[in-house]
Amino acid sequence: MGDPVEARTLSCPSCAGPLTIASRFTSLVVCPYCGQTSVVRDTGLDPTAKTAKLTDYASRLRVGRNGTIRDRAFSVLGRVRYRYEDGVWDEWFLRFDDGQPAWLSEDEGEYVLYSKRRLTSPVPPWEQIRVGGTVEITPHRMFVTEKGVGSVLGAEGELSMTPSLGTTLRYVDGTAAGRILVLVYTDTGITFGLGDPYDFHDIVVA
Ligand SMILES: [Zn+2]
Repeated sequence: MGDPVEARTLSCPSCAGPLTIASRFTSLVVCPYCGQTSVVRDTGLDPTAKTAKLTDYASRLRVGRNGTIRDRAFSVLGRVRYRYEDGVWDEWFLRFDDGQPAWLSEDEGEYVLYSKRRLTSPVPPWEQIRVGGTVEITPHRMFVTEKGVGSVLGAEGELSMTPSLGTTLRYVDGTAAGRILVLVYTDTGITFGLGDPYDFHDIVVA
């Protein structure tokens, strides 16, 4: 593989205006002429929507609904949809009845309930982390299972600690002692999530 071409100019699929894409990490572009949001592909631009309004995929979860996770009651307050190489995933912002916030990520029927944390010690740059290696995230030692690049495709409802629409993020997924960890690198810093996997049947939606 040679070096990827950095800057390139494509035509807006909605109005044909010229759109210059400067970074190879860019995966969404908003047309300055007509407001069309498009996904950047090797083959060109793929229009999504004029706004961040989200298409509903088959999910039991929805903003405003209530449910339980292993008998713990929650309300769904918001949703962020992310795009990555293999498709999209949703992260639902939940409030438990005791007021505790949590995020529930949903990717093709796989659920992880996690909370976002601040890092308490430095972690390596994303580029230096490799799948199959380990990363120290005090006090955890994460075994790295996946890394990739994604972007924020849209959002609704109320949310916490969320990159803005179109933000490119780089993530590292891993495990530590049966728990699930994720590092997310954005222009504004690095966040860390710690959570646990759940089965479809663990979650009941009213
Ligand atoms: Zn346009």
